Amino acid sequence: MKAAILHEFKQPLAIERARDPEPADGEVLVRVEACGVCHSDIHIADGDWPQFASIVKKPLILGHEIVGRIASLGTGVSGFREGDRVGIPWIYWTCGECEPCREGNENLCTRQKITGVSVDGGFAEFLRAPASHVVRVPEKLDSAEAAPLFCAGVTVFRALRQVVSRGQRVAVSGIGGLGHLAVQIARELGAEVVAVDVSDEKLSTAQSLGAVAALNAQSGDAGQRLRKQGGVHVAMVTSASKAAYDAAFQSLRPAGTLLAVGLPAENICFSPLMMAAREVRIRASAVGTRRDLADVLAMAEAGRIRCQVSHRELEQANDALMELRSGSVLGRLVLNLN
Ligand code: NAD
Ligand code: ZN
Ligand code: ZN
Repeated sequence: MKAAILHEFKQPLAIERARDPEPADGEVLVRVEACGVCHSDIHIADGDWPQFASIVKKPLILGHEIVGRIASLGTGVSGFREGDRVGIPWIYWTCGECEPCREGNENLCTRQKITGVSVDGGFAEFLRAPASHVVRVPEKLDSAEAAPLFCAGVTVFRALRQVVSRGQRVAVSGIGGLGHLAVQIARELGAEVVAVDVSDEKLSTAQSLGAVAALNAQSGDAGQRLRKQGGVHVAMVTSASKAAYDAAFQSLRPAGTLLAVGLPAENICFSPLMMAAREVRIRASAVGTRRDLADVLAMAEAGRIRCQVSHRELEQANDALMELRSGSVLGRLVLNLN
């Protein structure tokens, strides 16, 4: 099969032929139709996150927003047939037995395997995956528009539904792949959404998706400006920029929640005095469970949210990563396969 392969951090992916994977017991072989390009792919390819370096498989096929059709079944798989359309998220496999798994938070499984990090992902024509963890894609959804829901969508859905109540003011900082979906989901949860980004074009997109206001962070005072207007109940950061965290922290109203989702490589730090003075809450969120995924897919199936996607070919995987690095991507880039 054809695949885009990471051999070394910070090196371009090699577009080359690899051996077709074969499904083991309990696995399905998926013929990939679409795979989203997430900013986490850049962090992984660049070796940005030191805490992750030791679990990155090499050589590695990146990609964890995958939708395709089942090409064959390993032994012992029931409930699926060849041709069924399924998706594979960031969380490739969880143990089902550890404490977080038993508590219903499989996204925090201590033994999880991660797609496109510790096992091969979807920048390829095929991949194999445990039948227990692939998720059916509603027929109504186009594969390319469904793929980004498997990371971007499920991540912001879980994060927002844990903290946002109807009528609250929510700032979404970073209107990229995650953020453009966060604006729509926060709107659907009944929040008044303010979009923050460094690109006017992305801010216009956010307004067309339901944000009631937009602030360009390049002015450097977005946080203070929001604070002067009373502050926000929730400041969600969906950007890999440390500056976005600083502004989000400033924008909070008393007892507001900083919702940490974007993952800059640098540490972030806040004044304990300013945290105490406003009784700031800090909440982080990590992708989502199969349940979260089913719920966000249902929301998309009902037409309440929609991914804005642009298409690229597998051969353009390096260009797609460059485009995303440069900040010029509106919505999500999706690689088309097969
Ligand atoms: P993206 O590149 O599509 O979007 C990032 C956006 O941030 C861009 O629109 C960019 O213009 C904007 N931005 C840059 N500087 C900014 C600033 N100072 N203020 C406001 N906005 C700014 O990236 P993405 O794929 O949406 O991913 C975003 C981040 O989320 C990445 O760090 C990624 O690793 C992380 N992520 C986290 C999880 C999780 O489970 N917590 C899951 C997926 C992705
Ligand atoms: Zn991702
Ligand atoms: Zn577990």
